[in-house]
Parts: sequence; C-alpha cells; structure tokens
Amino acid sequence: MKKGEISVKAENILPVIKKWLYSDKDIFLREVVSNASDAIFKFERLVGIGKAEKAENEEYQITVSFNKEKKTLTIADNGIGMTEEEVINYIAQVAFSGAVDFLEKYKDVTDADGIIGHFGLGFYSVFMVADSVEIDTLSYQPDAAPVKWICDGSSSYEIGVGERTTRGTTITLHIGEEGMEFLNEYRLQETLKKYCSFIAYNIILIDENKEKKEEEEPEKPLNDTHPIWLKNPKDCTDEEYKQFYKDVFHDYNDPLFWIHLNVDAPFQLKAVIYFPKLRDNIDLMEYGEIKLYYNQVFVADNIKEILPEFLMVLRGVVDCPDIPINVSRSFLQNDGSVAKISNLIARKVSDKLHSIFTDDREQYNKYWDDIQLLMKYGCIRDSKFFDRMKDAVLFKTVDGEYLTLAEYFDKREDKENKVVYYTDNKAQQAANIELFKSNGLEVVECSHPIDPRFTMEFEMKEEGVKFCCVTAELPDTLTSGQSVNEEDMTALTELFRSALGKENLVVKGEYFKEEKTPAVLTQSEQTKRYQNISRSFGGMTMDFPEEYEIILNLSNPLICKMLSMKQEEDKKDKLAMLCQQIYDISLMSHRELKKEEKEQFIERNYKLFESVL
Ligand code: ADP
Repeated sequence: MKKGEISVKAENILPVIKKWLYSDKDIFLREVVSNASDAIFKFERLVGIGKAEKAENEEYQITVSFNKEKKTLTIADNGIGMTEEEVINYIAQVAFSGAVDFLEKYKDVTDADGIIGHFGLGFYSVFMVADSVEIDTLSYQPDAAPVKWICDGSSSYEIGVGERTTRGTTITLHIGEEGMEFLNEYRLQETLKKYCSFIAYNIILIDENKEKKEEEEPEKPLNDTHPIWLKNPKDCTDEEYKQFYKDVFHDYNDPLFWIHLNVDAPFQLKAVIYFPKLRDNIDLMEYGEIKLYYNQVFVADNIKEILPEFLMVLRGVVDCPDIPINVSRSFLQNDGSVAKISNLIARKVSDKLHSIFTDDREQYNKYWDDIQLLMKYGCIRDSKFFDRMKDAVLFKTVDGEYLTLAEYFDKREDKENKVVYYTDNKAQQAANIELFKSNGLEVVECSHPIDPRFTMEFEMKEEGVKFCCVTAELPDTLTSGQSVNEEDMTALTELFRSALGKENLVVKGEYFKEEKTPAVLTQSEQTKRYQNISRSFGGMTMDFPEEYEIILNLSNPLICKMLSMKQEEDKKDKLAMLCQQIYDISLMSHRELKKEEKEQFIERNYKLFESVL
C-alpha cells in the first residue's frame, strides 16, 4: 500500500464538515447510492455506444448491506468502476478542491445541505457516520487492476491493490459512534425509501448477519426503477396514476385529477402534479407536497418556491435534472430555475383546469367543490390567474346548480341587473331565499370564509358586478312598485315602533308580489361586510349595534288586517304582540334570538295559540 495526502491546505476539514452536516446525517446514503447509480448509468451508456461490453445475464444492481457485528455498511454497484488514477483524481483531489474556499465562505453557514455537493464533497459525507472508509473498485477498462483506497477521515489515505474481481465499486463504511443507527434494517429502509425510491437501478438491502435460507426468495428491490413520471402519458392508465399517488402521498382517497408534464425546453422537466380531494375543513397549507427529484434521486420536498402559494395544496413529483442536486434549500429558493418551474407549473395547472371546464363541463361541475378553494385563492392572489380563470369560476346555487357568472345573469329577465344575490347561511336565511326564488331570482351560496374576500375581488375587477346578501335589500323585482299610502305608513310606523320600543326603527312599506311574507328585516350589505371584516381581524366579540330596517308587505293579509284594526283600543295588546312576533321571525334570518328574546318569543306564541281556539 502507498500512502497519499488529500490535497487540502486547510488541515482537518472533516471534523468541520461533520459538525455542519450533523443534522442531516442520512444524506450520506443518498450521496453514495446516487454515485453508484451514476456509475451504472455511465457504464450502460458505454455499452450503448459499443465502447464496453456487458455479460448477457448480468443485471445492473446496487446492494446495500449492513453487518451489525462487524459494524460495517457496504454499498456495492456494478457500474463503471475506477482506475487508480481516477480514485486519486475524483475522490482524493477533486473532493477537496474547493475546500479552502469552502472554509472561507461558509464559516457561518448552518445549512448542511448547502455545503455538500456544492464543493463536490458528496462522497465525503460518509464521514458523518463512518470512522474509516474503504473503496474497492475495478474499472470497466480491459486491462484495469482492482484498486483499494482507505481513508480514516483525516487528510491522509492509503491506496493499493484491491480485491474486486468484477467490474464496479464497493464502498465499505466502518461505522462510528455517530452512525450506529444506520446499522439497523428499518433505519436503512426508511432512508433508502426517502431518497432512493425511484432510482433507476434495483437497490437490494441485505442484513449480513441474517442467515439466508436456501428456499428463500431472492431479495426484492426497494425501489421502483421506472417511476410513472418518466413514462409516456399515453402508456399510463388512470389506475397507475392513482396507485402512484396513494403510495407516495399515503392518501387513501383517490386524487381528483392530475397533470403529467414532459418538458424539454427551456429546461428539462418531468412531473406529475395531482389535485387532491379537498374539503372545507382541512388545513390547506399542510396538505400540499411537491417532491423534487434530480434524475430520480430525491432532493427535497416542500420547497415553497416551486409552486405559487395558491397552488400549495397540490401534490406531486417534479424531476428536473437542471436543478443542481444537493444544494441547499436557500440556494434553491434563490435559484432562477425554481421560479421558472413555478411559472411553468402554474400555467399548466390553469391550462388543465380550463380545458376540463371547456371540454367536460359536467365533470368540472363535479370537481368544483374540491377545487373551488384553490380557484378562489388563486383569483385573489394572482391577477393573471384571475384573468385567465374568471370565466371558469362557478357559483353554486342553493339548488345545487353550478353556474358561471354569465350563466347566472343570463337566467334572469332583467339582463341589466348585475347584482349577484347570495346567501352566507342557507338555513338561517331560508325565508329570504324562498322570497327571491319565488320571484325568479337565483340565489348562490357564498358561505366559505374565503368568499367575502373573493366576491370583493370580482366587484373590483369586473365592471358593474355587485354581490348582495338576500338579507341586505329587497330588489325591485320582488315588489309591484305600487305607490304606498303615506297615512297608512305613518300609522304602521307608529304601531311597530311603540310595540317594539324602538323609537328610531326605520319602517318601510312595499307591495310584495307574493302575499305570504308579512315583513322582511334588512341590514345593509356594507354593514354586513364591515362586521365580517372586523370578525376576521382577531374575532371581536363585542356586539355590533344592530341597524335593521323593517319592510312591511302591504300585500300581506295580516299586515292589511293590522292596519285596519289600528284604532281599536281593545286590540292593542294583540297588535303589539303581532308586531313583536313579526319582527322576531324576520330577525331570525339575521341571527339567532338571544336567551331572553327567545323566552319572550315562545311566551307570546303560547298566548297567540290560545286565541286560535
Ligand atoms: P459528485 O458525485 O458530486 O461528483 P462525489 O464526491 O460524490 O461528487 O464523487 C466524486 C467522484 O467520484 C464522482 O464524480 C465519480 O467520478 C467518482 N465516484 C464516486 N462514487 C463512485 C462509484 N460508486 N463508482 C464510480 N465512480 C464513483
């Protein structure tokens, strides 16, 4: 054996690396396994161009074996192998070529990922877990001799004749205190699954201390060497996409739909992006997950910048060989290519949504409940998205019909009326909804917390469009327009004010087209929104002053009767009770009755029952 020195001016760089890399120790396995995969790939390519030959029955494979007794972890491949010169050049020299720079620049860096790879230190990450490392390698070249290289993590190494008789490389790690956890089948399995699930060559995990029984099946590879994103979309079945989704994201629900991207320019990218089923009450931000791969090697997940914020609920895999592997999150976040990926995905997502909208409207309607949050959030967050998607935004009527705004307006007689009537509480506002519907006005549901903000966006950007709650006003369509007798109104106003003890109550009268409803209580849209906003800013608990107006229906027989009886002294109590009941019933479209109000309401009801018999 010959001795050599790793060419590095700064003494003992390894303890420094160890310290920095400590938090993400398991990266070492990604580094050595992906080196092994690269080595096989290089060999395969040489075979492809006729520069090397492969035995017919030989299968490309990476073996990860551990030996708890000997405290070794071994990663072996049948790739290209290295000559002595290559070991010295690639492992010993190049690895540390940036070392001085590295020490200078990254004195204060705490992000481990950032250092590895950036300076070609990938291989050296093994010293996070190993006290010493041996490389046994035999190059593919016809006259090559096997080489062995040993290094204990200091800057000196030994190099000599190796033992390998077949082409490829075996890396043996003599695991130190800090790496003991990796002499465990589950830990290794977990780490390999995390980083290497989709590596292009079979990975076999072997416990060397476990006796292999004769009849046992050969070990199964841990990985899927040909993941779905590499395939031609034409060759993939829906079932395959769904299964992949379930396996990778551990969701037992099927995804709604997905987008398979295969892009060559301006950069290479292959991806499958899924729309998960989303229902209202989940933490959206916790939902999404994009896994980033570099040539099938897992790099990172949850890199926020890879998707615009409003698409963060999506799940998927993105394989992009143009992103440098094993760079830090902060590097990726500042890297222009990530922004480009983000733009590309956003565009493809809106294309996809739009194409479902135009090509398969029925299906799109079915998706709406699940995609509406993303759509609305997107419209709020991104004006380009708004412009592109606004015509594909749906409003769900209280009868469960899904309409675009254009379709909604198109359904009414008065085409000039650009007010969208909505309910934010279908049950509470049932009476008002009924009143609108019986006059041919469709009511849409806007009951999600995002809706107030979202509808405002429409009002700001779409000329003339207004949203108005069914409890906020009485559209002209609902009344006959017949003029009201002022004397009657004065009498009714007086009657209601004194019965309710509300001196300043605004009492109006209209001839409703329908007779059934005696009165409605309205609260202006503006007040309602002000309340919504105040509530969303830190949940103010104080009671808002109630500013309701009561609109009496002069076509209603009860109101007419009350009007005709207003002078009768002995009916006074009964009339007052009726005013209070009418008011309370209308009030229930706005809020629940408070305890005392409810007690009195019930009391009055019982009294009125008596007069029925
Ligand atoms: P990087 O992979 O970023 O180039 P590494 O430190 O991980 O940096 O590896 C340095 C070089 O050593 C590799 O580029 C490759 O040429 C060589 N090498 C490492 N592992 C193997 C292997 N298993 N088989 C053949 N060559 C290898």
